[in-house]
Amino acid sequence: MAMKDMILRGRANVLAVTGVDCSGEAWAIVADGAVTLYTDFRYIPMAHRVAPALKVRDVKRFEADLRRAFGGRGAAERRVGFEKAISVADFEKLKKVLPRAKFVDATRVLQRRRAVKSADEIAKMRAASDLNVAIWKDARRMFRAGMTEREMAGIIRSMMYERGDGEAFDTIVCVGANAAECHHVPDGTVWNGRDGVLVDMGVKLGGYCSDMTRNIPPKRRSALYRKVHDLVLKANRAAIAAVKPGVTGKALDKIARDVIKAGGFGKCFGHSLGHGVGLEIHEPPYASKKSDWTLKPGMFVTIEPGIYLEGNLGVRIEDLVLVTETGCEVLTASAKEDE
Ligand code: ZN
Ligand code: ZN
Repeated sequence: MAMKDMILRGRANVLAVTGVDCSGEAWAIVADGAVTLYTDFRYIPMAHRVAPALKVRDVKRFEADLRRAFGGRGAAERRVGFEKAISVADFEKLKKVLPRAKFVDATRVLQRRRAVKSADEIAKMRAASDLNVAIWKDARRMFRAGMTEREMAGIIRSMMYERGDGEAFDTIVCVGANAAECHHVPDGTVWNGRDGVLVDMGVKLGGYCSDMTRNIPPKRRSALYRKVHDLVLKANRAAIAAVKPGVTGKALDKIARDVIKAGGFGKCFGHSLGHGVGLEIHEPPYASKKSDWTLKPGMFVTIEPGIYLEGNLGVRIEDLVLVTETGCEVLTASAKEDE
């Protein structure tokens, strides 16, 4: 289904159709395929600068323009796409302005369009991922015993702002047992130089996100740590080997999950295997138990199995993978074998 009439509100979707990333209120009206961006005074000069050819209007005019675009004759038959994830208040505003329009959920259409990346987007994703790997290498060398998780996350964060557009998400640094919390917020926990460290990081570059998780192993690896690490690595590799066009996100998740289940840690892998990455850090296609997405060339997906033993240890290994015509390419060119 192609949608020539749409009203967009989500930041990433507005960015995808207008080329402008507004952190404040922004709407895009697509009427007969023609795009207009609505935002407030504070963002208008930036919009002019980054998208000189785009029609940009003050958000104060949004409702009147909306009525003009979709509220005239034939409004009752006109199907207007919108995103179901907008707020109730926003949707009520649309219905008030366009009481006769037929609102159609365009979420899936928009997701599909964004899930398959163009050659230009693939090049940007590759650059973001390469930079992420380079920052990890450099940051890791600066980690010292006595540093807190917050300090280590700070090293990564400042490199991301110096060399890229900043963080794609809040950098996760977990020392020792904190790695059992999948999305641990770095705190004052001090690294003694011997405990394991899990780092989940993603730099943004050229508007596109990257995502990877690596582990610094503990100096003395217990038999349990080895077992858990080897199993996570095995699951990561098995899933990567299966990535190719036509495979569903659900099947992919199952491949990794079965490996971990067979190793006796099924209950300790409580999240999904992976997600798409692009303008947003989490976007379709999803690789999860319930995912109905099918992989196509040009899609990106993370492969990130993990095992978490509360109060003890956690290991997750995450690679960013590009689906190609014949299989896949792993973008995360960083060692994981002995880590
Ligand atoms: Zn991650
Ligand atoms: Zn991820």
